[in-house]
Amino acid sequence: MLKVDQAVIIGGGFSGTLLGINLLRYGTLKVTIIERQADRLGRGLAYGAAQEGHILNVRAANMSALPDQPDHFADWLATRRLGEQGSFATRRDYGAYLCALLDEVSSRAQGRLTTLAEEAIDLLQTDGGVRAILRSGATVDADIAALAPGNLPPHDLPAFARLQSTAYVNDPSAPTSPRGCSPRTMSCCSAAG
Ligand SMILES: Cc1cc2nc3c(=O)[nH]c(=O)nc-3n(C[C@H](O)[C@H](O)[C@H](O)COP(=O)(O)OP(=O)(O)OC[C@H]3O[C@@H](n4cnc5c(N)ncnc54)[C@H](O)[C@@H]3O)c2cc1C
Repeated sequence: MLKVDQAVIIGGGFSGTLLGINLLRYGTLKVTIIERQADRLGRGLAYGAAQEGHILNVRAANMSALPDQPDHFADWLATRRLGEQGSFATRRDYGAYLCALLDEVSSRAQGRLTTLAEEAIDLLQTDGGVRAILRSGATVDADIAALAPGNLPPHDLPAFARLQSTAYVNDPSAPTSPRGCSPRTMSCCSAAG
């Protein structure tokens, strides 16, 4: 039978973090999460770059990170007076919830979690498992790998590639995108997105 001691997760956004949390909660696996953008660990694109006014499109009652505890997120909100079961919480609060849960679970898992602020550029099959190659030149060996890299960053459409205009924003989720926008422009952007 295949013996699995070590898992490597490439991408520490929403899916990678949730997988890490649940692997640490059950069993004895050691987990390494590789996330290239340190400020996205636990948050990813959706719950990291959000502005204060950006809210989830799903009620708190359906956003628990723990399948066996469906009220977990709603209770977390209620304890902090941020909402309850029927609330549409902010995406920032949801990112904070995931990060707090990862911290809590890893502190109980006694050294089983390693997080690396690195970019994985390749993944090789080895005799015993897999080897992730990082941009820094370092490597991470594991028995199994999970790929959770999310969506590719947006590309410019060819017609807009050379456009030099502040009216053109190719990545509305980038932290710098709202600069110079009025609240009215921002709400139009949000509605369009
Ligand atoms: C703006 C927005 C709002 C959303 N709002 C909601 C909502 O309200 N409710 C809802 O249910 N869903 C929402 N979603 C959908 C939600 O984003 C997805 O369901 C989920 O967050 C995707 O998670 P993910 O782990 O696949 O990607 P991400 O959370 O983006 O994580 C991928 C991570 O992998 C990292 N990465 C990529 N390549 C590498 C590499 N080579 N090496 C290391 N790290 C790497 C990236 O930096 C990133 O942090 C929203 C999505 C977006 C874009």
